[in-house]
Amino acid sequence: MNTALISHPDTLLHVMDGSHPESPARITAIRNQLKAAGLDDRLAHYEAPQATDEQLTRVHTAAYVREIRRIAPKAGLVRLDADTAMGPMSLSATLHASGANVLATDLVMSGKVKNAFCCVRPPGHHAHQGRAAGFCIFNHVAVGVAHALEHHKLDRVAIIDFDVHHGDGTEDIFRNDPRVMLCSTFQHPFYPGTGADSRTDRMINVPLPAGTDGKGFREKVESEFAPALERFKPQMIYVSAGFDAHADDPLAQLGLLKDDYVWITEFIKAIAARHAGGRIISSLEGGYHLPALAESAVAHIRTLMSGRQPA
Ligand SMILES: [Zn+2]
Repeated sequence: MNTALISHPDTLLHVMDGSHPESPARITAIRNQLKAAGLDDRLAHYEAPQATDEQLTRVHTAAYVREIRRIAPKAGLVRLDADTAMGPMSLSATLHASGANVLATDLVMSGKVKNAFCCVRPPGHHAHQGRAAGFCIFNHVAVGVAHALEHHKLDRVAIIDFDVHHGDGTEDIFRNDPRVMLCSTFQHPFYPGTGADSRTDRMINVPLPAGTDGKGFREKVESEFAPALERFKPQMIYVSAGFDAHADDPLAQLGLLKDDYVWITEFIKAIAARHAGGRIISSLEGGYHLPALAESAVAHIRTLMSGRQPA
C-alpha cells in the first residue's frame, strides 16, 4: 500500500475540558469519514509507539521533558498555558503522537510505504524547545524530522506547515539548523503573533491577511514556497497538516476549502516526486470545525494515497 495511517487509542483520551475545541471528537470525525469514503481498508494501519526520551531530547531540552513527566497529573488537570492543559492520559497521548512521527519516518525511509498520515493529537507545532503552548506539549513533526536527520542521516528535510497559525515552535527548534527548511503560511496578525518578521532563506514565513481565500493562498505557495523548495531540494517532506485555515473554522478567518487542501497536497507530492523519492510524512495539527476538518483531512489523505497526479 502507498500510505500508512498511524494512530493510537490514547490519542482519544487526552481531554482538557468538555468545551475545549481541541477535542477527541476531531480524531473520531476523521476516522469515521475515512470509513464512509471507503478509504480505511486501503490504508496500511499502524499503532504508534511512544517516543523515547532520546528521540524527544533531539528537539526539546532534557529539563523540559523531565518537567512534563514530573507534572503529568494522576487525576484532574494541570495547566501549561492559558490554552493548554494535561489530564491523566495527556502525557501518553503526546508521547504516542511524537512516536507516530518516528515510526512514520522509519516506514517511509525503509520503503514499506511511500507516505504516511499521523492521525494524532494533541497537535505539536507550537511546542518550543523548552515550553508548551497553544494546545501543544511536544513537537511531533520536529521529533520526526530530527529522527530523519540523526538516525537516517538525511542532509536536507523540508517542513510545510499550512495550519492557520504560524509554526513558531518548529521555527524555534530548527531556526539555526541548516539541514531544515520550514515553509509556513499563517493568518497574520493572529495567534501566536510571530513569523512576519523572522523570515530567512530557510524559514519561509508567509503571512496572510484575514479573509485570504484559496486563490490568494495558492498564489503565495507558488511564488514563495515553490522557488525555495526547488532550491533546497529536500530529501524528505514533513507536513504540519492543520485544517483550521478552512473557511468554516471557528477559530480563524481564512477562506480555504476542501479543494485547496487537495491542491496543496498535489503541490507537495510534485516537489517530493522531483527531489525526495516521493517521501512525505504528514501529521495532524489544528482544525476545529468537525465536518470541515473531516472532509479536508480525508481529501488530503486520499490525495496522498493516489498513485498518480491528476491531470
Ligand atoms: Zn492552528
